[in-house]
Amino acid sequence: NKHVFMFDDTDANGKELLGGKGANLAEMTRIGLPVPYGFTISTKACNAFYEAGEQLPADVKEQVDTALEKLEKTTGKGLGDRENPLLVSVRSGAVFSMPGMMDTVLNLGMNDETVVSMAELTGEPRFAYDSYRRFIQMFSDVVLGVDSEKFERKIETHKQLHGFSADPDLSASDWKTLIKQFQTIVEQETGRAFPQDPCEQMILAIQAVFGSWNNDRAQLYRKWHGIPGHLGTAVNIQSMVFGNTGNDSGTGVAFSRNPSTGESKLYGEYLINAQGEDVVAGIRTPQAIETLRDSMPDVYQTFAETCRRLENHYRDMQDIEFTIERGKLFILQTRNGKRTAEASVRIAVDMHEEEILTKDEALMRVDPEQLGQLLHRRIDETSSFEVLAKGLPASPGAATGKVVFSADDAEDKKAAGVPVILVRPETTPDDIHGIIAAEAVVTTRGGMTSHAAVVARGMGKACISGCSDVSIDLANKTFSVGSTEVSYLETVTINGGTGELMLGELTMADPELSDEFHRLLAWADDRKHLGIRTNSDTPDDAARALAFGAEGIGLCRTEHMFMDPERIPVVREMILALTSADRQQALDRLLPMQADDFRGIFETMGSRPVTIRLLDPPLHEFLPDKEELIKETAQLEITDPASNELKTKKELLREVRRLDESNPMLGHRGCRLAMVYPEIYAMQVEAIMHAAIDRAADGAAVRPEIMIPLVGHVNELKAMRRLVKESADRVLNETGEYVAYTIGTMIEVPRAALTADAIAAEADFFSFGTNDLTQTTFGYSRDDAENKFLQRYIDDETLADNPFMVLDSEGVGELVKIGVEKGRSVKEQLKTGICGEHGGETSSIAFCHAQRLDYISCSPYRVPLARLAAAQAAV
Ligand code: PEP
Ligand code: MG
Repeated sequence: NKHVFMFDDTDANGKELLGGKGANLAEMTRIGLPVPYGFTISTKACNAFYEAGEQLPADVKEQVDTALEKLEKTTGKGLGDRENPLLVSVRSGAVFSMPGMMDTVLNLGMNDETVVSMAELTGEPRFAYDSYRRFIQMFSDVVLGVDSEKFERKIETHKQLHGFSADPDLSASDWKTLIKQFQTIVEQETGRAFPQDPCEQMILAIQAVFGSWNNDRAQLYRKWHGIPGHLGTAVNIQSMVFGNTGNDSGTGVAFSRNPSTGESKLYGEYLINAQGEDVVAGIRTPQAIETLRDSMPDVYQTFAETCRRLENHYRDMQDIEFTIERGKLFILQTRNGKRTAEASVRIAVDMHEEEILTKDEALMRVDPEQLGQLLHRRIDETSSFEVLAKGLPASPGAATGKVVFSADDAEDKKAAGVPVILVRPETTPDDIHGIIAAEAVVTTRGGMTSHAAVVARGMGKACISGCSDVSIDLANKTFSVGSTEVSYLETVTINGGTGELMLGELTMADPELSDEFHRLLAWADDRKHLGIRTNSDTPDDAARALAFGAEGIGLCRTEHMFMDPERIPVVREMILALTSADRQQALDRLLPMQADDFRGIFETMGSRPVTIRLLDPPLHEFLPDKEELIKETAQLEITDPASNELKTKKELLREVRRLDESNPMLGHRGCRLAMVYPEIYAMQVEAIMHAAIDRAADGAAVRPEIMIPLVGHVNELKAMRRLVKESADRVLNETGEYVAYTIGTMIEVPRAALTADAIAAEADFFSFGTNDLTQTTFGYSRDDAENKFLQRYIDDETLADNPFMVLDSEGVGELVKIGVEKGRSVKEQLKTGICGEHGGETSSIAFCHAQRLDYISCSPYRVPLARLAAAQAAV
C-alpha cells in the first residue's frame, strides 16, 4: 500500500491521490523544470491518519523515512546534519484548491545546531537566525498551538527598545536574543522544550497538516464550495530554497501573460534578497519583472524560457511562484492564472493564433458570462471603495448618479442634466420614463425577472433588484441602510454585476471591444447551430443588438410603446371607453403612432426577421395607481368637493376598481384581452402592415412575424389567427400591396405545451416564453417569489438554481421538449425559438441547442454571450 511518492516517481499520478499541488509538482518535475526536490504523502494516508485516531500509521511513517533518505541522497543534504543541513517545507495540498485554509510549516529541520551550520555555510548569520525564528514561530503556532501574537509582541518590544523600525533592521544577534525568548515562551505554554529532533519535527508537522483538514475554516470552506470531507488532503515535503541568501537571490510571482489585458508579455514582480512572505507582506515594494532582465540576465532568460515551456505544457496562461537561490532559478508553483474578461478573450484568441489551442478549444476557454463585463462601463477595481448594501445583480454595468425616488423626479433631473439613480420599492410600466432617464435602477423588492430587472437589462442599464438592506422612506425622500441615511440627490454608485451599492462617486473605466473580441465571436458564429435573435422594443435597442451580432428580433414587446407619456392619455381613453365607437376613436389615434414605431424597427432591421408580439399586460397597468387615486380623491372631497376634477377622479377610480384583479398575471391579459376587445389587436396588426408596406415600397424585404401571447387553448389561437389575418389582409387589399407575414404563438402556459400538436396546426411558429412558463409551471409568482422564499430555497439547496434565471430542464424544460416534439409531429418545419430571459443564459442556451430549437432571443447586451454559449454547446 504505497502512500508516499517522490516527485519523480513514475507512478506518482493523479490529483485524487496526490492532491492538486502534489500532482502539479510531480508533473513539473517530469517535464524537467527546476523544481526543488521532495515527496508527497497521499490523500489516502490522510484517511489512514484519521482512521488511526489522528496518528500517522506505522507503515506511512516507514515510507516517509525511505522517501526522506532518497531526498537526502539526491540533495546531498541531511535532515539535522551539522555539516550540510536539509531544510524542508511541509504543505497541505487537497484535490480541490482550498487557498489558505490548511496549515503549512516552512524551514523545518532547523534547531540550535543546524542554525549554526546554516550561518557558517551561507556566510549569512542574519539570514540563518531569521529563518530559525520564523520556523519556531510557525511551528509553534501550527503544530504546538502557541498563539503567534506572543512572539510578535516580543519582536515589537525588542524593536522599540532598540529603535528599529522594520524587521530587516534586526541583526543576527538580535534574532539570537529573540530566539531564546521564543523558546522560553514555548516551554511556558507547552510544558516542554521546543523539539530539537528534526525527525520528530517532521512527523509532528505532517500530523498537524493532516489535522488541519478538519479545522473549522477548512470545514466551512468545503461546505461552501461543496467539497466532500472524505477526500482528505495530501502533504508535500519539499526541500527549501532560499531567496534571502544575498543579492544574487530573490523571490517573486509572475504571470506568463498580462492577466488584466492578456498581452503576451511576462507580468509580475519580485524582491531581491527576500523570502516568499516578504512579497505578500508588502513591507518592501517589489520590482517589476522586466528589471530582472538587467539585474540577472541569465536568470531572466531561463525564467522566460521556463514560462514558455509551462504555457506550452499546460496550454494556458500560468501564474508562477519562483525563487532564485544564489543565481539559480527554482519554480515553486504554477497554476492556470486568474484573469479579467478582457484578458480571457485575448489569451484564447492569441493562443489559437500561436497554434497552442484549436479554434474549438479557444472557444471553450472563455466563460460566456464574463463577456457581459466587456460591454458595460465598469468600476475601476483598482480603486478602493466600501460597499453599503447588496441586492440581486439584476443587470450588469456600473453607474454613478444622484438618488431620486420617483420616475418623474428622474425625468426632471435628467432634463436638467443631472445623472440620477432611480431608487424604488419596485417599478411598474408606469415608471418606464424614469428608467429611461436614470443611469441605473435600484429596487428593494423584486427578483431577477422583475419589471425593473427585465427593462434595465433590455436597455443595458445597470440594475440592482431585491436590495432588501435598503429601506426607503418615500415621504421624506430618504433611504437608510442600518444607521446610514442617504437623502434625495446624494451621490451613489452601483455595480449591477455584483449587486453592490456604494456611497459617492467611484472611478470608472470605459468598455472597449477589442479586435480579439470580434474575432472570437466570428469563430463562434461559424460554429453554432442556433440562430441568435434579440428582445428589442425600440430602434435604438435593435441597433445595439445588431452591433452585438443579433440576426433578427425574436420578441418586440409592444406594450412599452403604449407607455410613452404622450400616448398614455390616449391609451387610457381607449381602455376607459364605454362604447366600442369611442374605443375605436382612441385606437384610430394610436394607429399612426404604432405604425411609426414599427417603421423605425423595420428600418433598423432591414430584411432580417422581426417577431412582433401583440399587447400582453393586463390593462390596469396603463391606469394610475389605485392607492394614490384614492388618496387624491379623498383630498379633493375635503378641499374642493364640488369640482369637476373630483368628478373625473371618481370616474377614473371606478374604472380602476373595475379593472382591478386579484391575480393580474393570471388574469385578463395576453390574447384574452383581444378575445374580449379584438379591436386592440386589429389596430396593432394594421399598424404593422402599414409600416411593412411602407418599407417594402422603399425596396426593403421586411418579414413581420406576428405573435400572439399567452395562448392556452387552440381555439384562442384559431380566433386570433382569424382576427390577425382579416386585419392584415384588409390592409393589403386596401393598399393593393403585398407583404408576406406569418402568424405564430408564444408557448408560455403548460396547457399550450401539452396540446402543442393542436396548436401547431394554427401556428407558423412557436416561441417559448419561459418567464411565464416558469411562473405557471412552478406556480411561483415571477414578481414576488424571489423576495419571499426563492432566495431561501437556493441558500438551503432546495433548488439548485433560480428557475427564473436558469431554465429548469427537468420541469419547465420537459414542457419545452413536449411542445417542440408535438409541434413538429404536426409541422415538420415548424420554426421554434425561446424568448424568455433564459435565452440569454449559458446553460439554458445549451438546453435549447439540445432540443434543436431554431433560435434563442435575448436582450441586446446578452447577444455576445449567447453567440459564444451557442457555439460552446455545438463543440
Ligand atoms: C415570457 O413570458 O417568457 C416572455 C418572454 O414574455 P414576458 O416576459 O413579456 O411576459
Ligand atoms: Mg410572457
